[in-house]
Amino acid sequence: MSLEAPVKSYLDGRLAKVVWESFGIETVGDMLRHYPRRYAERGKFTDLHKLELGEYVTVLARVHKATLRPMRQRRGNMFEVLVGNENGSLKLTWFTPRGFHTKDLKVGRQALFSGKVSEFRGERQLTHPEYKVVDEDDDPVVAAGDFANSLIPIYPASEKITSWKFADAIGIILDQLPHLTDPLPFDVRARHGLTDLLGALRGIHQPRTRADVARATERLKWDEAFILQVVLAARRRDTRRTSTPPRLRARNGLTDAFEAALPFELTVGQAEIGATIEDELAQPHPMHRLLQGEVGSGKTVVAVRAMLTVIDAGGQAALMAPTEVLAMQHARSIRELLGPLAMAGELGAADEATRIVLLTGSLSAAARRTALAEIVDGSAGIVIGTHALLEADVVFRDLGLVVVDEQHRFGVEQRDVLRGKGDTTPHVLVMTATPIPRTVAMTVYGDLETSTLRELPRGRTPIKTAVVPTSDKPAWLDAAWERVREQVAAGRQAFVVCPRIGEKETEAPSGAEPVDDEERRAPIAVLDVFPQLVDGPLKGLRVEMLHGRMPADDKDAAMRRFSSAVVDVLVATTVIEVGVDVPNATVMVVMDAERFGISQLHQLRGRIGRGSETGLCLLVTELPEGSPGRERLDAVAATLDGFELARLDLAQRREGDVLGASQSGRRSSVRLLELLNDEDLILEARDEASAMIERDPEFASEPDLLAEVTRVIDAERARFLEKG
Ligand code: ADP
Ligand code: MG
Repeated sequence: MSLEAPVKSYLDGRLAKVVWESFGIETVGDMLRHYPRRYAERGKFTDLHKLELGEYVTVLARVHKATLRPMRQRRGNMFEVLVGNENGSLKLTWFTPRGFHTKDLKVGRQALFSGKVSEFRGERQLTHPEYKVVDEDDDPVVAAGDFANSLIPIYPASEKITSWKFADAIGIILDQLPHLTDPLPFDVRARHGLTDLLGALRGIHQPRTRADVARATERLKWDEAFILQVVLAARRRDTRRTSTPPRLRARNGLTDAFEAALPFELTVGQAEIGATIEDELAQPHPMHRLLQGEVGSGKTVVAVRAMLTVIDAGGQAALMAPTEVLAMQHARSIRELLGPLAMAGELGAADEATRIVLLTGSLSAAARRTALAEIVDGSAGIVIGTHALLEADVVFRDLGLVVVDEQHRFGVEQRDVLRGKGDTTPHVLVMTATPIPRTVAMTVYGDLETSTLRELPRGRTPIKTAVVPTSDKPAWLDAAWERVREQVAAGRQAFVVCPRIGEKETEAPSGAEPVDDEERRAPIAVLDVFPQLVDGPLKGLRVEMLHGRMPADDKDAAMRRFSSAVVDVLVATTVIEVGVDVPNATVMVVMDAERFGISQLHQLRGRIGRGSETGLCLLVTELPEGSPGRERLDAVAATLDGFELARLDLAQRREGDVLGASQSGRRSSVRLLELLNDEDLILEARDEASAMIERDPEFASEPDLLAEVTRVIDAERARFLEKG
């Protein structure tokens, strides 16, 4: 019996249809992995004449009267039911009831009702009680005992099926399951005292006690963590066993020339990680490393050094960035960093010089042809681009290193496509400026080794951040613009960041995260703020816009003008979030700051910590003091520790969101695991998974595990293909 069997073969057709329509549940596995959201405890089974005000009770009674009528004061209906038995009667009330209440509670039906006893106009009543209809051939006393004493699993709601009917359907399936294959190896279960799969599924869906739930949850979390770690351990093993030409550092090549020409000393971290990378590039197996470090910690320098080492060894390097703006920015700053070393074929080039080629989606056909030619004949040592690098006609002569910037926006699969572009398997270096808590690194990036740049280059002064509340202190916004004017007068530059571009009504906020479901005014838009600033508080300054709907050339031109300080203030969306490097920019005003996530704000303000001047980041918000959104902003203002903020961010989000849309396969396989709280479990699962892959890489003794791993990988791959 496998969890892949269709629900249809266990439930009647109508019910199977309802769970499909409500939750997309197709298989028994989908059904059984639709876990309760929480558990309620029912009140004691109580006689109708012994109801105490304020007590939680369960009663067995028959419906005497049921009326649905509109409410007097408010919109919507009220459903009143009078129930009773030989001991008395009781009123039940629902405000704006769901349709199924009226259908279930017909006059004459007998049911169990649970809720808190309240009083209205001298009458005892239950408001919105839980209930379960008792069939005439059920023994009401047995039913009542079961109903009153057990925990009530509360399932995610749907219009079409009550939580208890869903629980019944789960029960029908659990009763029919004869035997279940268990993907978790027996010895792993034994070592960690975990129950078998069927026991765990019963425990989570039909617990008697909280301890049952805890035991079941532990085991099911293990499934999630272990399967994920097995997939990752298998990937790591593959990487270790793949061979690739070693890229040994050459003497008197580009790397030496680059180091000699650097206008600063490498930080200790840069030097150490640089040495590690150099060492790994010299191995006959591909490097697979994650480089994390705060914005401005000098990752790019480390990456460029690695690229040059590979070029010296006769190979090429590709750098993939998530956006066109960022790719262009990289091309510009790496050209600058390399100077004559990147000017092969141009006047003033160094002897050992190479070429940098930029490949984005918006190149003209002719420019693209030229770029492709330089990539295929190898004259382009460094190829920088966006997803355009993944296209089939991009062929390298000898791709030795792939650098992926800001990997959280790319999926594993995209990395693989780029990696597959060489005849040999290239080394991979992934850079991210988003600090990643350890457990997330082990989960999302678990197939990579990790290096972290912890210190900023010397001479940086930390950024100051302040919240500018416009609801209680409207004058502060004027003061904010005044600060911008002061800085510009002192020869500095500023960013104004908005959560939205504007105009198109349907557009989603640009990268900003929805904060709640309530209807609120639309977020502040670049296209609205820009003219207001130009005619108002920033009148006379050189202000320009930058956003994702501008043509690539315009974007590039705007960035260029800002970089060369022809523009004082850039009003932009989060396109500036990553990588934009203008050390002269010292102020950032973030409008509707609460619309952005914690990590995103941290990332944004990194844009003004690039030079030796103290940066000032102003988080403008309408939210009143003490509101949750405002507290998040206060937290961002209170610390510059990216790891602490990343933890906070994680604590406030669902795990699936953390794993990210680009990690959707993993997202769907992680339901119970909490990346912050389950660190020990994840570590243990990782150790077990690594050991198991070493012992039995082909899963010869674990066919059930293999089946489950294959299912997870296939789901991941299918989603990638759907995305195209
Ligand atoms: P990241 O990619 O981590 O955001 P970069 O490598 O772009 O950081 O470096 C940010 C800025 O700091 C760049 O202008 C770079 O030239 C400079 N920088 C990098 N390393 C050092 C260092 N060791 N000392 C001084 N400045 C540095
Ligand atoms: Mg960078």
